[in-house]
Amino acid sequence: MIVPAARFDLVVRGGTVVRADRSLAADVAIADGRIVTVEPGIPVAAARSSIDATGLLVLPGIVDVHTHTRIASDEEPDRFFQDTRAAAFGGTTTLLAFDNPGTGISDEVAGSAVAAAHEWLDRTRGDAAIDVGLSAVLTAQQDDPVAELPALADLGVASGKCFLVYDFGVDEARLSALLRASVDAGLLIEVHGEDREMLDAGIEAQLAVGQDGPLGHALSRPPACEASGTRRAIAAAVAARAPVYLVHVSCGSATDEIARARRAGHRVYGETCPHYLSLDESRYTLPRAEAMCAVISPPLRDSSERDRMWRAVRDGELDIIATDHVPDRRSREKQDLGQAFPDVSNGAPGVETLLAVAYGVGVAGGRVSVERLVDLLSTTPARLFGIPAKGAVEPGRDADLVLFDPAARRTIRQVDLHHTSDFTPYEGLEVDGVVRQVLSRGRVIAKDGAWLGDRGHGRYVPRVLD
Ligand code: MN
Ligand code: MN
Repeated sequence: MIVPAARFDLVVRGGTVVRADRSLAADVAIADGRIVTVEPGIPVAAARSSIDATGLLVLPGIVDVHTHTRIASDEEPDRFFQDTRAAAFGGTTTLLAFDNPGTGISDEVAGSAVAAAHEWLDRTRGDAAIDVGLSAVLTAQQDDPVAELPALADLGVASGKCFLVYDFGVDEARLSALLRASVDAGLLIEVHGEDREMLDAGIEAQLAVGQDGPLGHALSRPPACEASGTRRAIAAAVAARAPVYLVHVSCGSATDEIARARRAGHRVYGETCPHYLSLDESRYTLPRAEAMCAVISPPLRDSSERDRMWRAVRDGELDIIATDHVPDRRSREKQDLGQAFPDVSNGAPGVETLLAVAYGVGVAGGRVSVERLVDLLSTTPARLFGIPAKGAVEPGRDADLVLFDPAARRTIRQVDLHHTSDFTPYEGLEVDGVVRQVLSRGRVIAKDGAWLGDRGHGRYVPRVLD
């Protein structure tokens, strides 16, 4: 008898493949790290090995487009690897990092976005557990970031973020020039859309009445401050005839600005984050050391805004859920030194808990379909950010898969996480759904909580926009 040679390296058998448009019972055949076929009943003899995914969802690996993952330093040589590995444990197989001040990028490259990108590429080479890409940060301190956009695009850095606030934030003249230049250069401009003047006034007002704790942080930057910054960013983009992407949208009034521009035919995209979909402003009245951990920008909002954000992602007013991961620690960056809120480090970790929170609160909670969630976490991020090899369980794409058990239940606890932070904002949150296995380019890198991957398996993903 002649036994035909196995055509595939691996078949993931018997699961429910989830795509943005529909779910289907199908096997997934993989060869050379790519998905070859997605269809029911692939013969056992066709593959050298198989994984039984009966009862599991087969999701595309998550593409987290918003992280401030820190690069290795002499003092903390493992932190970049560790957070990329943590991402994998959570079901993320591709992440984009920024190179802004605070992520470990050196002061020597503060004047040039291209020099910063080269340094980031050099210092992360061979270090990642999963595939990674870079989004540039475009700042007020750089000499001429407008002229640098084509060179960034040549490096595969197809997106860049402008802050309208903070000392490295750009003014509207620079924002407008960057937006105009972005079209020909092939970069998507991302904007942190809070209004600088309103924020400065809000901070002054809170300090003047002695509200200098974490609650003052929230009160100093209300939804109106975000809506105003969002409106200004959109106006600049419309005038420049450029697309624009609003990061970390937290409230209905900012979402309304995006929705209005879209109805008028403008290419305005929006992202929200798991914390705006699951937490609320009551955190700021907790004891100070706890409340400081919730100092993020924009701040957590009231519970009606949280419900509004679910409607926004469900109905397509917003496009993407990403983490805004900042690996701050209670014991370091968030240490309670009695400092006023403007001096509290901004940000919170989330790189490992994105799928758990979004699925548990969103899908299991009846707020969004699993197909829509796949679109928000994988398919649209890959499409908008120029990563066509990722984002869907389809022939021709990389075999980045999450085998997810929707019937299992877990409680999120810091002691079980692998990220570099020493706390999670989701401590004690009980969620339906557990990651069983994670595949990166056809290789199992995490299985039932055990790490099977390698440092350096992750590759740099050069990106080109559609
Ligand atoms: Mn931001
Ligand atoms: Mn951010």
